[in-house]
Amino acid sequence: MDTRRPAEAPQVDVLSPREVPLGGPRAMSVRRTLPQRARTLIGAWCFADHYGPDDVARTGGMTVPPHPHTGLQTVSWLFSGEVEHRDSLGSHAFIRPGELNLMTGGHGIAHSEVSTPRTTVLHGVQLWVALPEEHRNAERDFQHYVPEPLRIDGAEIRVFLGSLAGGVSPVRTFTPLLGVEITLEPGAAITLAVDTAFEHGLLVDSGHVRVADTLLRPTDLGYVRPGIDALALANLSDGPARTILLGGTPFEEEIVMWWNFIGRTHEDIVRARADWEASSDRFGTVEGYPGDRLPAPALPNATITPRRNPPRQLRPKGTP
Ligand code: MN
Repeated sequence: MDTRRPAEAPQVDVLSPREVPLGGPRAMSVRRTLPQRARTLIGAWCFADHYGPDDVARTGGMTVPPHPHTGLQTVSWLFSGEVEHRDSLGSHAFIRPGELNLMTGGHGIAHSEVSTPRTTVLHGVQLWVALPEEHRNAERDFQHYVPEPLRIDGAEIRVFLGSLAGGVSPVRTFTPLLGVEITLEPGAAITLAVDTAFEHGLLVDSGHVRVADTLLRPTDLGYVRPGIDALALANLSDGPARTILLGGTPFEEEIVMWWNFIGRTHEDIVRARADWEASSDRFGTVEGYPGDRLPAPALPNATITPRRNPPRQLRPKGTP
């Protein structure tokens, strides 16, 4: 920690992604920034995959057969392309750029995701939100919402969850949460009022963006601790800079994450896996997918241990 910083300057931790192949014959890969060793969650955001721009003629696009989820919500947000979604609620939806698609897994849901033949370039993010204990067995749900873009100081802002800069998403969340696409014109600088109880993560898709006093490059996720009331962003590049701002109050519960499941204990995961393998009603059936569902991978030999964020950094000696 640089102790020469003024106490009120937000410190930004730069989290870099790792490449993860999604599998399949031509193996589209994604850049995963959450979870990682240095950080499990930002608010209740517990999973962040960033992909593209991918020429689907080369990568084969996205083909994810029916698979289950528990204890979480999935957020699909595209910059380009189109993904066909089917789930065991009976939802059949097309996920398009600038449109929020929020699926609640709760006790159990299954879905498939396939990029459509209309897609030439696939580009976007796939995010998960952990459900708090009292709602983690929530009913299955699927919501679609198209935020109206706001234009402020050279920025275009699409608030898909929570509220920012006068934009308010009507979509209900189970914990205080923020999800926003912010695109900055070249040279644009904005200061956004934020909730002091929130921690934030800024994922840079394109451009070079300064957050507070830290420069972020494309694919970086900049983490900002709670306790600030404004976030200053500046696009230092010659082209537009596109970012995703995530936020929320720190999620204090420990979670156990394995494959597509979130629980609280190893036993939760073992049960969810067994229920999926047994084709239990817990997850239901995805109608209309032309193929087989995904089998669960083998469980690890060891007990799956809970994840939590590292303890907050201690203040250097001599500071209050
Ligand atoms: Mn999924």
